[in-house]
Amino acid sequence: MGSSEYERKIASRFAGFDQDGNGFIDREDFSGAAKALIDEFGVTARSDKGQAVYIGAEAFWQGMAGIADVDGDQRVSRQEFVTGAVKRLADNPVRFAEIARPFLRAVLALADEDGNGVTLQAAERVLRTLNVPADVAAKAAAALDSEHDGRISEDETLAAFAAYYTTPEV
Ligand code: CA
Ligand code: CA
Repeated sequence: MGSSEYERKIASRFAGFDQDGNGFIDREDFSGAAKALIDEFGVTARSDKGQAVYIGAEAFWQGMAGIADVDGDQRVSRQEFVTGAVKRLADNPVRFAEIARPFLRAVLALADEDGNGVTLQAAERVLRTLNVPADVAAKAAAALDSEHDGRISEDETLAAFAAYYTTPEV
């Protein structure tokens, strides 16, 4: 895998973060994702689960900005994402995934509607809410369940997140 191919893969992840498609990753992409998720699962922003999702999204944004917003204009351009993310990912993919952990944890709690763990269907709903195409969401949800117990754990999610941003395969 050449470095240019690697950068291309990372660039393809940019769209996943740029939720509103305006060409930049910024705070609104994260708060917008948080709002879409709590609406999807029918909780309010003031509820414990809702607050956790918003707080996690803000922490995720801050971590992303800290890594990639080189010029400090409070938004991450495609070039900043490719340059900043590629370097950090190469240095330490697990550390990169850790910036997402509070958000992922809050979203898993949100999606765990019956308190017995996150089902594949709930994971799929999360992904579709984040604008992942339906067919991709279904495959991704199934792939997340690496322990094949029908439920998605935090460790599985974090491992998948790190892998998604570091492996050449989509
Ligand atoms: Ca955006
Ligand atoms: Ca910037």
